Amino acid sequence: MEMDLNYILAKLRSDGYDYDATLGSIKSEKQAAQDAGDELYANQLWAAETIIKIHQQFVKTFELLKAGRYYEAWCEAEQVEINIQFLASNSQEGWGNVKDIYSRVRQLQSLYPYKFFASYVMHVKKEKCSICGKERSIHNFCGHRIGKVYNGELCCNIVTDAELKGIDIVENPVHKYSVLFPSDAEGRHDYYDYTLVEGLMKYWSKPFQFWKYVVRKVFKQKAEFPGLTNESYCPCGSGKSYSECCALNAEGIKHWIYTFMVEPID
Ligand SMILES: [Zn+2]
Ligand SMILES: [Zn+2]
Repeated sequence: MEMDLNYILAKLRSDGYDYDATLGSIKSEKQAAQDAGDELYANQLWAAETIIKIHQQFVKTFELLKAGRYYEAWCEAEQVEINIQFLASNSQEGWGNVKDIYSRVRQLQSLYPYKFFASYVMHVKKEKCSICGKERSIHNFCGHRIGKVYNGELCCNIVTDAELKGIDIVENPVHKYSVLFPSDAEGRHDYYDYTLVEGLMKYWSKPFQFWKYVVRKVFKQKAEFPGLTNESYCPCGSGKSYSECCALNAEGIKHWIYTFMVEPID
């Protein structure tokens, strides 16, 4: 008798849902399907498991944001994004359950002030397949593709030997968690400006409440910024001095207006 996955998935957005309990029962069901060699069902259970994790991580992201723990929320949101990408490439059906979460995660990320990230340059000497355990190299393909699900398990590379070659500073990182923080004498400190995230959190009051924002560009005149000199940082936020930035722009100083739209809740 198979589990009623549709019934389970329909409940995931209820208040106080116990994700861990459901994940526990899916896990034992998946083990049984794997043991019985029922790959189709094991893969369906993998998709259900991933959908549940995405919901759980999304709720966690929301809670971290509410607590003002913005960097941790950013890392959690990255996990949501990664799981959604794996789900989408393995289960067309499953994607429908999380499509709206994906668009909110991408919007949330776009409200963050992070600009620079560390990128680790690694020389991988040895890696093996997580499905069959065979060593992999360009000459040696075991037949399992990374990111594809086999018998209920996601295929990935396990690096067994690697050397760190260096660290680059990049604007579009492979790993979003690798944010560079300016540091002071006491170590790492978070001086980023989270105004936009804080703006969203004034309105976003329940994890699965729908929201979005639109952004509109307007131009302001120099007179609207008392004390602005040619040497000041440009108020548009480019990081350049005013004389090298919007002073050269006939229309004025670029300014973005964010409008948050939130689904009413009762
Ligand atoms: Zn393999
Ligand atoms: Zn400017």
